[in-house]
Amino acid sequence: MPLRVGEKDFQTRVNNGLDDAFMRGTVRSAQEQLRTRKQASSEELGDWEAWRTLGEEIRTHTLEHLDYYLEQLSDKVAERGGHVYFAKTAEEGNAYVRDVARQKEAKKIVKSKSMVTEEMSLNDALEDDGLEIVETDLGEYILQVDDHDPPSHIVAPSLHKNRSQIKDVFADKKGYGDSDDANDITRFVRGELREEFLDADIGITGCNFAVAESGSISLVTNEGNADLVTALPKTQISVMSMERIVPTWEELDVMVSLLCRSAVGQKLTSYITALTGPKGEGEIDGPEDFHLVIVDNGRSDILGTQFQSALHCIRCAACVNVCPVYRHVGGHAYGSIYNGPIGAVLTPLLDGYEDNKELPYASSLCAACTEACPVKIPLHEHLIAHRQIITEKEKLGPMPEKWAMKMFGTGVSAPKLYRLASKQAHRVMRPWTKGSSISNGPGPLKAWTRFRDLPAPAGERFRDWFAKRRRSSSDE
Ligand code: SF4
Repeated sequence: MPLRVGEKDFQTRVNNGLDDAFMRGTVRSAQEQLRTRKQASSEELGDWEAWRTLGEEIRTHTLEHLDYYLEQLSDKVAERGGHVYFAKTAEEGNAYVRDVARQKEAKKIVKSKSMVTEEMSLNDALEDDGLEIVETDLGEYILQVDDHDPPSHIVAPSLHKNRSQIKDVFADKKGYGDSDDANDITRFVRGELREEFLDADIGITGCNFAVAESGSISLVTNEGNADLVTALPKTQISVMSMERIVPTWEELDVMVSLLCRSAVGQKLTSYITALTGPKGEGEIDGPEDFHLVIVDNGRSDILGTQFQSALHCIRCAACVNVCPVYRHVGGHAYGSIYNGPIGAVLTPLLDGYEDNKELPYASSLCAACTEACPVKIPLHEHLIAHRQIITEKEKLGPMPEKWAMKMFGTGVSAPKLYRLASKQAHRVMRPWTKGSSISNGPGPLKAWTRFRDLPAPAGERFRDWFAKRRRSSSDE
């Protein structure tokens, strides 16, 4: 699955989301639960703001010395007998993994959740080679079984489905015959996946954070699937985007605390897996062969720009869970595997403005995302900066906005025209005025007023009121 998802245009995707009352209900209750749990678990830490500052400092320092830490990581992995490959593009990364699979004569691959491999369309590339890929994260597995339904949330990819829909997916595709109770469904999936783990030739994981000082890969999960993906198959490939790195275990401690609390409101998730190279002599678990693929795929171009802090993201989805726009339109409206505020910032950076020019406008700029972010990424400021580039540099701004700005510019720069327009505005807008608001306005105002109130022009202009007042006070 590539970075961009589906062929529908932005307006259609948004309308689909707005029309899906069920999805909106599910998203609303999930957002509320996750947000409440995050609030409680972050308060336990004491001074949450101090933790956020520490997180921001660690990410800033690491990104500023990224070349040094990547080299250290690479050396340490090699010292432990692992192989490291730097992939400039998604295609290079895919080609390397395909090559390893070919050499191993692999037939089946088990995978734990990884956003970067989705960004690269790694599954498609491997399936083209005739390999069977099995996602083992429950949410990802549901989507895979449901004919590759796209994810709608960074942490909970199948958030848009309820238990009954999930039961139906497994009944249709896998012959599941039990209830829609979460325990029954999970027990069934566990049974299915156990066989896949035992059969697999290669395990592929993502990487929450790589630890440069030891060459370790850490994985944060609640299902334990990453443990089995790293422990059972003889060959292990971890794919990480180049910025997912911390200098030492000390920083890992801070980042994992921030991640678990911000993502799912837990002190720690049920499993924190650390993998350091292939298994050594006398070790029982672990792969015989270990590969680390470090993927750039456009990130180097973000380094050193005003958007560098977007690379500080630890993919916790806290910004998604507070976003009022995400709440109404859902994750599929973004048309990207990265959705919510961070998706609206990151997607144009990785995939260009041309096909993603609407995303920075999918925000009310309320800044709730910036406040929620555990590493203090100024998300709303990045969205404003994107809008500036889209309108001024790329000349891709929305047409209604262009017309409105042009008309406004002409009006306010000609005093006579401004006076005439402001005098007539109340009368002209009367057919669309209800009480003190305009609803279902004409032309470009239609889209704006479909879901929002726009104050109607006042019957009496300020300048008329003021002139009247001055006259009456001079009469007195
Ligand atoms: S931008 Fe911040 S809040 Fe959003 S996913 Fe990334 S780290 Fe989490």
